[in-house]
Amino acid sequence: MYSDLFIDFDDTLYDTRGNAIIALFELFEARKWADNFPTPKVFFDSYWKTNVDLWRQYANGEIDRDFLMVERFRRPLSVGKGLNPTREYCLDVSDQFLELCSVKPGVVEGAHELMDYLKSRGYRMHLCSNGFHEVQYKKLRSCGLMDYFDTIVLSEDAGANKPSQVFFDYALRTTGAKKENTLMIGDNYDTDILGAMNAGLDTMLFNRWQKDFMPPKKPTFSVNALKEIMTIL
Ligand SMILES: [Mg+2]
Repeated sequence: MYSDLFIDFDDTLYDTRGNAIIALFELFEARKWADNFPTPKVFFDSYWKTNVDLWRQYANGEIDRDFLMVERFRRPLSVGKGLNPTREYCLDVSDQFLELCSVKPGVVEGAHELMDYLKSRGYRMHLCSNGFHEVQYKKLRSCGLMDYFDTIVLSEDAGANKPSQVFFDYALRTTGAKKENTLMIGDNYDTDILGAMNAGLDTMLFNRWQKDFMPPKKPTFSVNALKEIMTIL
């Protein structure tokens, strides 16, 4: 039924959150922030809350990439004592963090098996991601998933982020996929699923975070683990 799969990368195949947790610990150590925070958790909790809020705003086009990069460190570092998180300092921290993140190989459980399976079934696969250009290619190489993809579609190339229709129109044009033969797979209901639905694509929600989440608009398929996808496709 489907010939083409649009697949989200971060936290669908690549364990972005798990890898970032490791990288944040490394960053915290390297920067010696133990002197500035009562416990590392104070910093980490503030970082995660800020990061989720900012990525939501970024996907909706409310803020740009520069603002996200600075702000996701400026806010948590402002909680620390004796730090002066200027724009320059935050950008320097951000560069170091992305360096640490992008070399991590961690993938979501079953990602390699799934991609082997889908390849053997003859699907054309296209990565569809809002992530930053230079970081995404490094992460793809670090985790060994690059070669499975026929096309890499990044929002920075499309000129708009998922869930925008502009992104999906660009993805269909670039890949030559037909919307009626294409399935979008992703972990983010607001960006991957609603965006693809509005563009007229079938969708598969990888419900990784809240197993009891009831999507307001029902995706074509919903799975709780990557291995379930092999029973459907
Ligand atoms: Mg994702």
